[in-house]
Amino acid sequence: MIQLDALLCDCEHPTTAPSGTPTVEWELTDEALLGDRAPLSASERRAVVDQLADFGVETLRLTGSTGLDAAAVGELISYADDRGLETTLRTDGQQLDRDRLESLADAGLHRISVRVEGLSTPRQEHAAADDIDAALETLRAADDTELATELRFPLHAESVTHIEEIYDLAALLSADRFRLTHVPEPKLDGERRRRAVRRLADLTRDAHERNNHIETVLSGGIDAGYVTEYARDNLNGECATDVRTALRERLGAAPSPPVAKLGPAGQVYPGPFWDRYALDSVRARPFGAIWTDEANPLLVRLRHEEAGLPDRCRSCQFGDVCSGGSRGRALTAHDDPFEPDPVCYVHEEPAVGGSAAESPAD
Ligand code: SF4
Repeated sequence: MIQLDALLCDCEHPTTAPSGTPTVEWELTDEALLGDRAPLSASERRAVVDQLADFGVETLRLTGSTGLDAAAVGELISYADDRGLETTLRTDGQQLDRDRLESLADAGLHRISVRVEGLSTPRQEHAAADDIDAALETLRAADDTELATELRFPLHAESVTHIEEIYDLAALLSADRFRLTHVPEPKLDGERRRRAVRRLADLTRDAHERNNHIETVLSGGIDAGYVTEYARDNLNGECATDVRTALRERLGAAPSPPVAKLGPAGQVYPGPFWDRYALDSVRARPFGAIWTDEANPLLVRLRHEEAGLPDRCRSCQFGDVCSGGSRGRALTAHDDPFEPDPVCYVHEEPAVGGSAAESPAD
């Protein structure tokens, strides 16, 4: 993750050094991942939390909580909090009212994260519009609670033009954080991705100047190369150098792979997008034993970056700040995790005349 506001506005990449253990994304109820396996019971879920805590995992993201009853979700969050895990609940299309959010905060939830894929318009399908409205209502309801809030914005060909309005909306609803994520999307070319990130960087600096300190983050490290270019072109020399140094130190020390995914029956995957490749199950071995298994050739290759990188990344000028993007995204695009990340855009030069003059985000 790249914290854009701190890098561009304060010339630093704050927070403590990465712990060396992955963030764990736990999909609680996904039917496709579950297959014909039995879901983890409440006691098994507590045992998983123990395994994660014992391994030193600090950050847990829960998704798919709609399939569990509210008491079970609260109990899981409370247990994770007792074991020292900082937990985020990611909702997709689920509206939570203030009472529910307060009870989650009381249980020990740290952050609520809602996904907004675009603006709600009459032209949209009902389901999409309803999801967006639910997300925004949840943010509104969270405003007076203790919970930190995050608006996630996945960049799509349809949503890219909305980036400015959605960023403003996040600020208006007092979200603590705006997170841009890149998803594989053949219809969205590199230049439009670059423009979107540039626009977000501009918006971030403008907001900071207006004393609006919303955190702006870019998921993963794929934007690190472009962020160094942006800093070089827009910040003073010393700060631009600091940005590159901070990114190198921060991302270079990040765990590899940075995110582990857990399925509803306890399967462990090497990250998001890896749904076909379970490493093992926490029912068979503790999470730490699965994650550090030196006998697993896939994990060994993923961990030793040189061997896991495509040729393009090995000769890339941004190799010191970008560790090759997401192997999971490469898997979904090429059926081979060691091919290039399909969302990498730094080698696509902007069209002649397409620099600072284009319209916002597109
Ligand atoms: S080519 Fe590879 S190392 Fe270079 S920016 Fe793209 S993903 Fe990162």
